[in-house]
Amino acid sequence: MGVSSSAPPVPRPAAGPKPSGSNVSPIVAATAPVPPPQVEPWEIEVVRAKEFIPRAKEGLWAMITREGVAPVVKPVFNWAGRNSLFPLHWGLACCAIEFAAAFGSRWDGERFGLVPRSSPRQCDLLIVNGTVTWKVAHKLITLWEQMPEPKWVIAMGNCATGGGPFRSAYSVVPGVDKLVPVDVYIAGCPPRPEAMLDGVLRLERLIQERKE
Ligand code: SF4
Repeated sequence: MGVSSSAPPVPRPAAGPKPSGSNVSPIVAATAPVPPPQVEPWEIEVVRAKEFIPRAKEGLWAMITREGVAPVVKPVFNWAGRNSLFPLHWGLACCAIEFAAAFGSRWDGERFGLVPRSSPRQCDLLIVNGTVTWKVAHKLITLWEQMPEPKWVIAMGNCATGGGPFRSAYSVVPGVDKLVPVDVYIAGCPPRPEAMLDGVLRLERLIQERKE
Protein backbone atom coordinates (compact mmCIF):
# COMPACT_ATOMS: atom_id res chain seq x y z
CA MET A 1 0.00 0.00 0.00
CA GLY A 2 1.44 3.35 -1.07
CA VAL A 3 1.97 6.22 1.36
CA SER A 4 1.06 9.73 0.19
CA SER A 5 3.96 12.19 0.65
CA SER A 6 1.76 15.31 0.65
CA ALA A 7 0.22 16.48 3.94
CA PRO A 8 -3.56 16.87 4.03
CA PRO A 9 -4.70 20.49 3.52
CA VAL A 10 -5.14 22.47 6.73
CA PRO A 11 -8.74 23.68 6.91
CA ARG A 12 -9.08 27.44 7.32
CA PRO A 13 -11.42 28.74 10.00
CA ALA A 14 -14.71 29.82 8.50
CA ALA A 15 -15.31 33.55 8.55
CA GLY A 16 -18.06 34.11 11.08
CA PRO A 17 -20.11 37.16 11.92
CA LYS A 18 -18.28 39.92 13.82
CA PRO A 19 -19.14 40.09 17.53
CA SER A 20 -21.53 42.83 18.30
CA GLY A 21 -20.23 45.87 20.16
CA SER A 22 -22.32 45.12 23.23
CA ASN A 23 -20.46 41.81 23.87
CA VAL A 24 -16.89 43.17 23.50
CA SER A 25 -15.08 45.30 26.04
CA PRO A 26 -14.14 48.65 24.40
CA ILE A 27 -10.57 48.37 25.83
CA VAL A 28 -10.05 44.88 24.42
CA ALA A 29 -11.56 45.88 21.08
CA ALA A 30 -9.23 48.88 20.78
CA THR A 31 -6.00 47.02 21.62
CA ALA A 32 -6.70 43.64 20.02
CA PRO A 33 -4.13 42.89 17.24
CA VAL A 34 -5.51 42.86 13.74
CA PRO A 35 -4.69 39.55 12.03
CA PRO A 36 -2.79 39.98 8.74
CA PRO A 37 -4.75 39.20 5.59
CA GLN A 38 -4.25 35.65 4.43
CA VAL A 39 -2.40 35.82 1.12
CA GLU A 40 -0.92 32.76 -0.49
CA PRO A 41 2.65 33.08 -1.87
CA TRP A 42 1.48 32.38 -5.39
CA GLU A 43 -0.98 35.28 -5.09
CA ILE A 44 1.94 37.67 -4.32
CA GLU A 45 3.77 36.39 -7.38
CA VAL A 46 0.74 37.06 -9.55
CA VAL A 47 0.59 40.65 -8.29
CA ARG A 48 4.31 41.17 -8.92
CA ALA A 49 4.38 39.65 -12.36
CA LYS A 50 1.13 40.70 -13.92
CA GLU A 51 -0.37 43.55 -12.00
CA PHE A 52 2.56 45.63 -10.76
CA ILE A 53 3.06 47.69 -13.93
CA PRO A 54 -0.65 48.45 -14.50
CA ARG A 55 -1.07 49.29 -10.80
CA ALA A 56 2.06 51.47 -10.78
CA LYS A 57 0.83 53.22 -13.93
CA GLU A 58 -2.55 53.76 -12.36
CA GLY A 59 -0.98 55.18 -9.18
CA LEU A 60 1.37 57.42 -11.19
CA TRP A 61 -1.48 58.82 -13.26
CA ALA A 62 -3.47 59.48 -10.11
CA MET A 63 -0.52 61.40 -8.63
CA ILE A 64 0.02 63.36 -11.86
CA THR A 65 -3.67 64.27 -12.01
CA ARG A 66 -3.60 65.37 -8.38
CA GLU A 67 -0.23 67.19 -8.21
CA GLY A 68 0.76 67.96 -11.82
CA VAL A 69 3.56 66.53 -13.98
CA ALA A 70 6.62 68.33 -12.61
CA PRO A 71 6.46 67.29 -8.92
CA VAL A 72 6.11 63.62 -9.93
CA VAL A 73 8.44 63.32 -12.92
CA LYS A 74 11.24 65.66 -11.78
CA PRO A 75 12.45 63.49 -8.86
CA VAL A 76 12.56 60.49 -11.19
CA PHE A 77 14.71 62.40 -13.70
CA ASN A 78 16.95 63.71 -10.91
CA TRP A 79 17.36 60.21 -9.48
CA ALA A 80 18.24 58.76 -12.88
CA GLY A 81 20.61 61.61 -13.75
CA ARG A 82 22.55 61.59 -10.52
CA ASN A 83 23.14 57.83 -10.71
CA SER A 84 24.41 57.81 -14.29
CA LEU A 85 26.88 60.69 -14.61
CA PHE A 86 29.07 60.46 -17.71
CA PRO A 87 32.27 62.52 -17.23
CA LEU A 88 34.28 63.62 -20.25
CA HIS A 89 37.33 61.40 -20.71
CA TRP A 90 40.09 63.96 -20.84
CA GLY A 91 43.05 65.17 -18.78
CA LEU A 92 44.89 68.47 -18.48
CA ALA A 93 47.80 67.97 -16.06
CA CYS A 94 48.95 66.00 -13.01
CA CYS A 95 45.45 65.90 -11.44
CA ALA A 96 44.43 63.79 -14.44
CA ILE A 97 46.53 60.93 -13.02
CA GLU A 98 44.33 60.92 -9.91
CA PHE A 99 41.27 61.14 -12.16
CA ALA A 100 42.47 58.04 -14.03
CA ALA A 101 43.26 56.20 -10.80
CA ALA A 102 39.71 56.81 -9.55
CA PHE A 103 38.47 54.49 -12.31
CA GLY A 104 40.99 51.73 -11.61
CA SER A 105 40.25 48.58 -9.66
CA ARG A 106 41.23 50.09 -6.30
CA TRP A 107 38.71 52.98 -6.23
CA ASP A 108 36.32 51.70 -8.91
CA GLY A 109 34.48 54.93 -9.75
CA GLU A 110 32.05 53.02 -11.94
CA ARG A 111 30.30 51.64 -8.87
CA PHE A 112 28.75 55.14 -8.55
CA GLY A 113 27.47 55.02 -12.12
CA LEU A 114 30.38 57.16 -13.39
CA VAL A 115 31.28 56.12 -16.91
CA PRO A 116 33.89 58.28 -18.71
CA ARG A 117 32.97 58.88 -22.34
CA SER A 118 35.28 60.19 -25.03
CA SER A 119 32.72 62.30 -26.85
CA PRO A 120 31.39 65.50 -25.25
CA ARG A 121 28.06 64.89 -26.96
CA GLN A 122 27.48 61.87 -24.69
CA CYS A 123 28.69 63.53 -21.47
CA ASP A 124 26.96 65.53 -18.78
CA LEU A 125 29.93 66.12 -16.43
CA LEU A 126 33.13 68.06 -17.11
CA ILE A 127 35.84 67.35 -14.52
CA VAL A 128 38.56 69.97 -15.05
CA ASN A 129 41.55 68.08 -13.73
CA GLY A 130 44.62 70.27 -14.10
CA THR A 131 46.14 73.60 -14.98
CA VAL A 132 44.05 75.55 -17.49
CA THR A 133 46.11 77.81 -19.73
CA TRP A 134 44.72 80.59 -21.88
CA LYS A 135 45.95 78.62 -24.88
CA VAL A 136 43.62 75.69 -24.08
CA ALA A 137 40.75 77.85 -22.81
CA HIS A 138 38.87 78.06 -26.12
CA LYS A 139 39.14 74.26 -26.51
CA LEU A 140 37.64 73.78 -23.07
CA ILE A 141 34.78 76.15 -23.86
CA THR A 142 34.13 74.35 -27.15
CA LEU A 143 33.95 70.97 -25.37
CA TRP A 144 31.60 72.46 -22.76
CA GLU A 145 29.30 73.88 -25.42
CA GLN A 146 29.16 70.52 -27.21
CA MET A 147 27.82 68.78 -24.08
CA PRO A 148 24.00 68.49 -23.94
CA GLU A 149 21.95 69.97 -21.10
CA PRO A 150 21.68 69.36 -18.20
CA LYS A 151 25.44 69.40 -17.52
CA TRP A 152 27.76 70.07 -14.62
CA VAL A 153 31.35 71.06 -13.91
CA ILE A 154 33.73 69.94 -11.16
CA ALA A 155 36.95 71.95 -10.65
CA MET A 156 39.37 69.27 -9.46
CA GLY A 157 42.48 70.52 -7.67
CA ASN A 158 43.99 73.88 -6.83
CA CYS A 159 44.94 74.71 -10.43
CA ALA A 160 41.40 74.33 -11.78
CA THR A 161 39.97 76.07 -8.72
CA GLY A 162 42.16 79.18 -8.69
CA GLY A 163 45.33 78.69 -10.71
CA GLY A 164 47.17 76.82 -7.93
CA PRO A 165 50.96 77.29 -7.80
CA PHE A 166 50.86 78.91 -11.27
CA ARG A 167 48.24 81.51 -10.46
CA SER A 168 50.55 84.48 -11.10
CA ALA A 169 51.79 83.13 -14.45
CA TYR A 170 50.71 85.17 -17.49
CA SER A 171 49.64 82.00 -19.32
CA VAL A 172 47.40 80.41 -16.67
CA VAL A 173 43.67 80.98 -16.16
CA PRO A 174 43.20 81.89 -12.46
CA GLY A 175 40.28 79.54 -11.97
CA VAL A 176 38.15 77.70 -14.50
CA ASP A 177 35.06 79.55 -13.24
CA LYS A 178 36.28 82.40 -15.50
CA LEU A 179 35.35 80.17 -18.46
CA VAL A 180 32.47 77.85 -17.41
CA PRO A 181 30.08 77.69 -14.42
CA VAL A 182 31.48 75.45 -11.67
CA ASP A 183 29.19 73.36 -9.42
CA VAL A 184 31.71 71.69 -7.08
CA TYR A 185 35.30 72.60 -6.13
CA ILE A 186 37.75 69.98 -4.87
CA ALA A 187 40.81 71.27 -2.99
CA GLY A 188 44.24 69.61 -3.09
CA CYS A 189 47.43 69.47 -5.09
CA PRO A 190 46.61 66.90 -6.20
CA PRO A 191 43.35 65.73 -4.60
CA ARG A 192 43.40 61.99 -4.11
CA PRO A 193 40.88 59.74 -5.90
CA GLU A 194 38.82 59.53 -2.67
CA ALA A 195 38.49 63.34 -2.74
CA MET A 196 37.36 63.25 -6.37
CA LEU A 197 34.73 60.63 -5.59
CA ASP A 198 33.59 62.68 -2.59
CA GLY A 199 33.17 65.66 -4.91
CA VAL A 200 31.09 63.54 -7.26
CA LEU A 201 28.86 62.39 -4.36
CA ARG A 202 28.34 66.04 -3.35
CA LEU A 203 27.36 66.84 -6.92
CA GLU A 204 24.92 63.93 -6.85
CA ARG A 205 23.25 65.46 -3.79
CA LEU A 206 22.95 68.80 -5.62
CA ILE A 207 21.35 67.06 -8.60
CA GLN A 208 18.88 65.19 -6.41
CA GLU A 209 17.75 68.46 -4.79
CA ARG A 210 17.54 70.58 -7.91
CA LYS A 211 14.12 72.07 -8.65
CA GLU A 212 14.36 73.65 -12.12
S1 SF4 B 1 46.62 71.14 -8.55
FE1 SF4 B 1 48.70 70.36 -8.27
S2 SF4 B 1 48.56 68.23 -8.97
FE2 SF4 B 1 46.76 69.29 -9.80
S3 SF4 B 1 47.35 70.00 -11.81
FE3 SF4 B 1 47.79 71.66 -10.38
S4 SF4 B 1 49.95 71.38 -9.84
FE4 SF4 B 1 49.24 69.45 -10.74
